[in-house]
Amino acid sequence: MTARLIDGSALSQQIRSQVAERAAALAARGIKPGLAVILVGDDPASAVYVRNKVKACADSGLHSVLERYDAATSQEVLLARIAALNADPAIHGILVQMPLPKHLDAHRVIEAIAPAKDVDGFSVASAGELMSGLPGLRPATPLGCMQLIASTGVPLRGKHAVVIGRSNTVGKPMALLLLQAHATVTVCHSATDDLASHTRQADVVVAAVGRRNTLTAEMVKPGAIVIDVGINRDEAGKLCGDVDFARVSQVAGWISPVPGGVGPMTIAMLLANTVQAAERAATH
Ligand code: NAP
Repeated sequence: MTARLIDGSALSQQIRSQVAERAAALAARGIKPGLAVILVGDDPASAVYVRNKVKACADSGLHSVLERYDAATSQEVLLARIAALNADPAIHGILVQMPLPKHLDAHRVIEAIAPAKDVDGFSVASAGELMSGLPGLRPATPLGCMQLIASTGVPLRGKHAVVIGRSNTVGKPMALLLLQAHATVTVCHSATDDLASHTRQADVVVAAVGRRNTLTAEMVKPGAIVIDVGINRDEAGKLCGDVDFARVSQVAGWISPVPGGVGPMTIAMLLANTVQAAERAATH
């Protein structure tokens, strides 16, 4: 391996201890940052994600509640519960774990969360703040990717960044954050012709597709920073990302692994967003 490893596990621990310090400072003023996590249905992967988020809150001195609802829960029940959490002063962040069962309207559910408590940053208001460069809560995964890139010490200004994927939750906010950091940004997706011709020119590649080996060694410029957001399983059932890690790490300058890269950063940034929401609530 020639690339330097971007260690998301280590960096996330640093961020979580900073979060714990900020939470302690708030606690000294009588405010305990609180996160409500809502899980509807029994998707096993979602159950693991929410458990990890709730545990991370406890580890950093944040208050958290996990609310589990039956898969058949109605939209009205869910919206009423979100309205109650919006009004609850002990709760500063509300997260509804996606995906929701098909009969629920995810857009309406997300829009029901008060913008000041939208710690996932998925609402139209949060997306608008990001788009306009206004302060606000940014989606945790792209925010974590920005921290991983920053940890390399390589300045983004003037660099060419290629984002593979254009989802509202990862690809698009990622592109906007990179743009805000003065990178020149290309966004690729499933209809992109000749993906490799774009990635080969990139100083930074962020892969957020959900397909193994989307980024292979011959698609990477020597020395590039490679951030792997994807979560997949290989044929042996082992967790892997979108990047052919073994070969790309022979070409790239920096690379984040899966697991141990973006995943732990997403949780750390969710905690940071919750503390940020509590800090803002304390000043209003
Ligand atoms: P998504 O909503 O399914 O979006 C995937 C994107 O990839 C789409 O924009 C799609 O293009 C694009 N795409 C699909 N095939 C492609 C191809 N062959 N070439 C180029 N682009 C292609 O997924 P997501 O929610 O953004 O998540 C992406 C991956 O990141 C998933 O594996 C997910 O599990 C993972 N993830 C990880 C974390 C974490 O914390 N580590 C957090 C969130 C997501 P179109 O728009 O044209 O369909």
